Amino acid sequence: MKTQELQFFKDLLLTQRAEILNKADSFKTESVVESTGQGDEGDLAVSELSLSLTLRLQERQTQLLQKIDRALGKIEEGSFGLCEQCEEPLNINRLKARPVASLCISCKEEQESRERVFA
Ligand SMILES: [Zn+2]
Repeated sequence: MKTQELQFFKDLLLTQRAEILNKADSFKTESVVESTGQGDEGDLAVSELSLSLTLRLQERQTQLLQKIDRALGKIEEGSFGLCEQCEEPLNINRLKARPVASLCISCKEEQESRERVFA
């Protein structure tokens, strides 16, 4: 991949990373507000529900953050944009839509069909 392209993906990944970290901050503030509020049972149930939703979202964001860090590491190593399984270059348009992608379409499909079998 060209240096220019790598720089483009690096910027893209860093921007996504910053967005997630910003959101993580607002999550924290929200949970502090919730835990200090003393409501009746109904309110409590609602806040518990939103808390578990927040945690689930956070979990997904954390996973995405790890993928972003891995992709950034691959940019440094020079293996970014290659399939982790067959080492074929990934489609650039697919990478633009999803810079954290680590498998080419055929390996991805293979993986998904395996996951379906074991699900
Ligand atoms: Zn592949």
